[in-house]
Amino acid sequence: MQCAKCGREVKYLFYFEGIGYGSECFKTVTGMTVEEHESNQRIKKEKQTKEEFILNNPIIYVCIDKDSYNKKDSLKANKFQYHYKWWIGFNIEGLEELEFLQFSTEEYFQGWGYCYSSKTAYEFLASYEEDEKSLYREIETELKKKDTSNWIGQEKEKVQLKVTLNKITGYSNDFGWTNIYIFKDENDNTLTWKTAKDMEWEEGQEIEIKATVKAHEEYDCKKQTSILRVKEV
Ligand SMILES: [Zn+2]
Repeated sequence: MQCAKCGREVKYLFYFEGIGYGSECFKTVTGMTVEEHESNQRIKKEKQTKEEFILNNPIIYVCIDKDSYNKKDSLKANKFQYHYKWWIGFNIEGLEELEFLQFSTEEYFQGWGYCYSSKTAYEFLASYEEDEKSLYREIETELKKKDTSNWIGQEKEKVQLKVTLNKITGYSNDFGWTNIYIFKDENDNTLTWKTAKDMEWEEGQEIEIKATVKAHEEYDCKKQTSILRVKEV
């Protein structure tokens, strides 16, 4: 192989603007070593690929639908991935009936250089950790804004309420099993009672209760009131 500048036989040719040079002449012609040139080309390509990606996927969709778990196969089919607490993706074709938050891809992915081969929202998201965290903070802020429910009463206040038992769950630890009774009041506010007691209640049942407010808490960006000393009236 022959260098196009000096005509010498060389083992490898390095191309610049379509012309092949030996490594020494390459440096003379381009002002860069072969390695510097290749690194520049790679960075240029990564930048270009990222710009194309943002152009083709301008909106990050975060599924906040109550039904998202049941729709997970459809979400997966659209390359949505479950990350942290949410299904996140770029394509909602056929999923328009679900509820999504929308964010600008460009705004949350300022970092570049690692994401050029990303095929999915998850890979893209994970490619730049700071962007990922700031997106999650923003999702939580938006969800808190959307939460129209309220806390009940004041700490230590005794309350009497008509509630529906929404869910019975629980956990076990060294002290045994603890039930968690989750109630909704008439205004869709959430109350939770953690107790070792087993009540003769069923999910969906309407109950009038007396209780003491223990604390105002937040769970999954929603307000909930934990209560103590619950008695059926
Ligand atoms: Zn040469």
